[in-house]
Parts: sequence; structure tokens; C-alpha cells
Amino acid sequence: MQVAIVGAGIAGLTLAVALKRAGISFVVYESSPRIKPVGAGIALANNAMQVYRHLGIADELNGKGTRISTVLLTDLNLQVLDQTSLVNFEEKYQLVNIAIHRSALHRVLLDTIGSEDIQLNKRLQQITQTTDGDYQLEFADGTRVNHPFIIGADGLRSQVRQLLFGDYALRDAHQVCWRGILPFDLPQKYEHVAVESWGKGKRMGFVKLADHQVYWYFLVDEDLHQPQHEVTSYVDECPLWVQQMIQQTPKEKIHFDKIYDLKPFEGWYKEKACLIGDAAHATTPNLGQGACQAIEDVYVISRLLEQYSLEEALKHFPLARQAKAHSIVRESWTLGKIAQWRNPLLVACRNTSFRLLPTWMKKRQMEKMFELNQI
Ligand SMILES: Cc1cc2nc3c(=O)[nH]c(=O)nc-3n(C[C@H](O)[C@H](O)[C@H](O)COP(=O)(O)OP(=O)(O)OC[C@H]3O[C@@H](n4cnc5c(N)ncnc54)[C@H](O)[C@@H]3O)c2cc1C
Repeated sequence: MQVAIVGAGIAGLTLAVALKRAGISFVVYESSPRIKPVGAGIALANNAMQVYRHLGIADELNGKGTRISTVLLTDLNLQVLDQTSLVNFEEKYQLVNIAIHRSALHRVLLDTIGSEDIQLNKRLQQITQTTDGDYQLEFADGTRVNHPFIIGADGLRSQVRQLLFGDYALRDAHQVCWRGILPFDLPQKYEHVAVESWGKGKRMGFVKLADHQVYWYFLVDEDLHQPQHEVTSYVDECPLWVQQMIQQTPKEKIHFDKIYDLKPFEGWYKEKACLIGDAAHATTPNLGQGACQAIEDVYVISRLLEQYSLEEALKHFPLARQAKAHSIVRESWTLGKIAQWRNPLLVACRNTSFRLLPTWMKKRQMEKMFELNQI
């Protein structure tokens, strides 16, 4: 097997689909005993869906998610600040943005790859280079394997990054986030809408994932959060039905995280080792682009493989990819700060300027995200 892919998240599994299509042998090593997607729902924007069309699985994903045709920005009481239609992007790319349960996305990826090339319970612990230039991977269970190529798709706290590329500190956004999923029927008008609602030092959003299934998230500035408090302590400014939706979510379906990203750094490749996805460019969730950018990494690698050997393709990958991935990380970081402003004057100015922002400007911003990375 040529390539060791470390991590069976969205980046690792999507890369496995692309390598399989390119006829390049690989093994995916995943630390968990089973593939367990965390975080309930995910929005797959137009750029991610273009990549999945390129890989031949967009139609299947469409059938398992819900079309998002509008992005609505509101205050916490759902009073509209701004509304962006995605219909012209749907027409331009002949594809829709979808919201989907993470486990449904993983299922489609796993079915496309097949289970024979995925090894579970393999927590990477150490990497050494052998005299013939291969990488020897050592796992927590004491087993060792050799591969000529290694791809670190092992997320925000990547072991591959730390062992081979250096110790890049995580950047703390000082925000905490709850994500939940539950059986719930949204009011009809939110059927194909991704809603994001901004308050003062807090923010929430929700979207329909499938029939009778809703995904919501709620962020609070860390200094406003008391560790003993549940998310339900912060929802009083939301309409009653939103409060009830959050209250009705079973506790085991609520995930709690602190928000971090990776300050942009260069050099995701060295000597047949490469980083992709969150391992290379983890971003805050404010643009809903973390996984979409991981998926776009795979697009760039797969296009480079049409022209180059695997080694050359991976060598060219960071240069082809870093400008767009890094600009998303930076914009998302800034947006996350603006979205949680608390000063009432600043909040009023922010809300007014969002109302007044010309449509062409907002569309151009989205176009930058949706247009696939040029090679
Ligand atoms: C609150 C929130 C909301 C989000 N919403 C969206 C959204 O709507 N749209 C979007 O595009 N993105 C979103 N994201 C971002 C998205 O979740 C991530 O960018 C994406 O999951 C990254 O995928 P990945 O495969 O690179 O890493 P991960 O999903 O972290 O996967 C890494 C995998 O590697 C495994 N692993 C880790 N260490 C080892 C090891 N030592 N050995 C072996 N295996 C290992 C892990 O178990 C895991 O399976 C959101 C993130 C957050 C926090």
C-alpha cells in the first residue's frame, strides 16, 4: 500500500475516495474503534458539492440532505438583518448547497471506499523514517507499518503535524459552542433556509437536515459562560419555539466544544508527507467552511494527480491551495469576533451596515468561497 492516510474524518475519507478513483493504493488508520462523526449536522456549500460531483457522489448526498436556498441573518429574536438567496449559485453551478447529518455523509463516503482499506483502533503515536526513505508508523496498540507516503488528515490536534511538521499552537477564540440535533418540524418558512442569529456575546443558528430533523448550534463568549450552566441558560432572547427546540434536545445529542483554529502557516508538505483538512488549516466555524475546505483540498490533489505523479502532486499541493484556505481562516476568525460584539453601539452599527450592504458585495463574497480553487 502506497499511502497511509491518518484519520477517517471528512478529509481522510474524501481523500480515500479520490485515491481509489485514481487507482492509488492506500490504508486509512483511525484511532476510534468505530467511525463516529461528531457534531450532528453539517452544511455542505456549493464548493464542497462541486468536489463531490467531481468524485461522483453528489447525487447520492443530495438525496440524503436538505437543500439550502437562502441564508438568513437575524437577531436572536429572528428579526431579519439580512437575507441572501443562493438560487443564482444553484443555477450557475447546477448544484445545490445542502445541510446533512454527518453520519449520512460518512455512510456515503464509507460505502464508496469499502471497509477493507480502513483500519480502526489505530491511534498513531510515533513516526520514524526508515533507511530506504519509507515512513514507519507506530500505533498505540504497539503495531508498526511502513508506507512510502503519509497524509495527516487527523484533525485540529494532528499528531502527524506535531511529529513531522512542528508544534503550531492552536488559537483560542474564547467562545464555547453547543451543537444539537433532534426530531423537530421547523416552521414552513425555514424549510430551505440556513438561519444565523446574532446577539450580544452570543449567537445561534439552525437548519433542517432531513424530514422532522433539525440541527442547531449556540455559541457564547467564554467569559459569559459558567461551567455549571447548560445551553438553556442562554436562550431567553430567542422566540419561545426556539427555546423549546433547544430544551427538548436529548442531552446525549448535544455536543459541547471550545472553539479553536490554527493560525495560518505554510509548509504542509515535506518528503512525501502532507497535511490536509483541519490538520493543515483548521478554521473557526463562522463561515461554515471547515469541512468544505478539507473537501476542496482533495479536489486540488485529485486535479494535480491528472498531471503529475503522486509525489509531485503532493509537492505542488500547498502552493496551489494555501491562498484560498488561509483567506477563509482569516475571514472566519474576523467574522467570529464581529458576530459576538457586545457593545450596544457597535452592535447597532453592525446590524445597520449588514442591512445596507449591497447585494452584489455579499454575492461576490460568496462567489469567492464557492468558486473552486484554481490549480
Ligand atoms: C461548531 C462547529 C460547526 C461546524 N460546522 C461546519 C459546517 O457547517 N460546514 C463545514 O464545512 N465545516 C464545519 N465545521 C468544521 C468541520 O467540522 C471540520 O473542519 C471538519 O470536520 C474537519 O475534518 P477533518 O477530517 O480534517 O478532521 P476531523 O473531523 O477532526 O477528523 C480527524 C480524524 O482523525 C482521527 N484521529 C485523530 N488523531 C488520530 C491519531 N493520532 N491516529 C489516528 N487517527 C486520529 C480522529 O478520530 C478523526 O476521526 C464545524 C466545526 C465546528 C467546531
